[in-house]
Amino acid sequence: VAPTGVAAPTPATPVGSTPAGCGSTATGPLGVLGVPGQVNLDYAATAPCARAAADAVAELLPWYGSVHRGAGALSRRSTLAYERARQDVGDFLGVRPDDHVVFTRNTTDALNLLARALPPGTRVVTFAAEHHANLLPWPTGTVRLPVPGSAGDAVRAVDAALRELRRGSGGGAPILVAVTGASNVTGECWPIAELARVAHAHGARIALDAAQLAPHAELDVTALTVDYLALSGHKLYAPFGIGVLAGRADWLDAAPPYLAGGGATLGVGAATHDVRWADGPGRHEAGTPNLLGAVALAAVCTALAEADRAAQYAHEQALLARLRSGLAALPDVAELRTFEADAPRVGIVSFVVAGRESAAVAADLAQHWQLGLRDGLFCAHPLARRLLAEAATRSGRRDLPPTALRASIGLGSTVAHVDRLLTALAATR
Ligand code: PLP
Repeated sequence: VAPTGVAAPTPATPVGSTPAGCGSTATGPLGVLGVPGQVNLDYAATAPCARAAADAVAELLPWYGSVHRGAGALSRRSTLAYERARQDVGDFLGVRPDDHVVFTRNTTDALNLLARALPPGTRVVTFAAEHHANLLPWPTGTVRLPVPGSAGDAVRAVDAALRELRRGSGGGAPILVAVTGASNVTGECWPIAELARVAHAHGARIALDAAQLAPHAELDVTALTVDYLALSGHKLYAPFGIGVLAGRADWLDAAPPYLAGGGATLGVGAATHDVRWADGPGRHEAGTPNLLGAVALAAVCTALAEADRAAQYAHEQALLARLRSGLAALPDVAELRTFEADAPRVGIVSFVVAGRESAAVAADLAQHWQLGLRDGLFCAHPLARRLLAEAATRSGRRDLPPTALRASIGLGSTVAHVDRLLTALAATR
């Protein structure tokens, strides 16, 4: 399989370039595509597509052929590209040699798959601070811990919950701790390595919702000792419709297939239930797979792996600091946060403008300033509602709206983008 559009790494768009530069000058594998003049401050919802992904798709299109289902040259090349993509994504995530890397549609799909693959009787522990994708798929009896006030509180809460569960179950039932790496509401980073250590000390496993962490920070499943990891391609500069569940093979191989159909079987007999299901990732990937998505995602992963991620992180942190201090200087703006103000976080900030409906502010920013932000409760209703209530208490304001605004940044973001938002907010009050 020819390399898929991955060239020598180049730095992210330099800090300080103009909003008009967003998208029109995407160069290098990690340059992002966009529309000149439109400023995307909504990376946490869907990041722009990276050049590496677009190039990988363009390169593969002439070779479009059936994956795992044909003998022709196009089909064989497509199959090789798909399996090579699996390998590259696994390498990027630092998976263990015997882990599976299952391609899914997105993080939601990946976590639902994992929920269906839990051994019977598994107890799940999660937090009320999670995105709905990591709150809703879990079985009845899941322990939903309250939103903690600090990373240390989160670790202590999991420790206590696991102790309790172990005592209650006589130590027998499998337990899964399911947590986010970075909050999609606040950007705050959760203490994944410590939570993994505590989970394992109690004989439990841990699943990481890496939807928001993966685009911003290096992740290594082996080093973090995380058992499962889920992410979405469309938040990682790749197209929609591709995601990943990576992790321990045993539960996945023992579970019923997530989807039943072609590609997930070793053989089907004449009798209704005469089916031998495949082991390995294919068990959960029935149906013709998303070759272009997988290849595009792998190309971004490879480009990120070859890039200077410390520089990317520093770039985003500089913008984040500028954004947060600018917001703090605006008298009517209150930021939402779970942990201490200086807790580590990725490039996501949620806030409210006192006395203004968030939807109206977002519409104003879009119409008059070409700024794309998100407003609402961000598919994390329990957390967002709680943080809105806390912001009201902290600020002493009674006129905070019931929903929030969220600005989120990434590879193509610049000082000019941040400053445009701050100027717009100052003018819009
Ligand atoms: N988890 C987190 C932390 C998210 O931010 C999101 C999306 O915003 C998801 C899961 C779900 O991602 P998707 O909609 O791609 O399935």
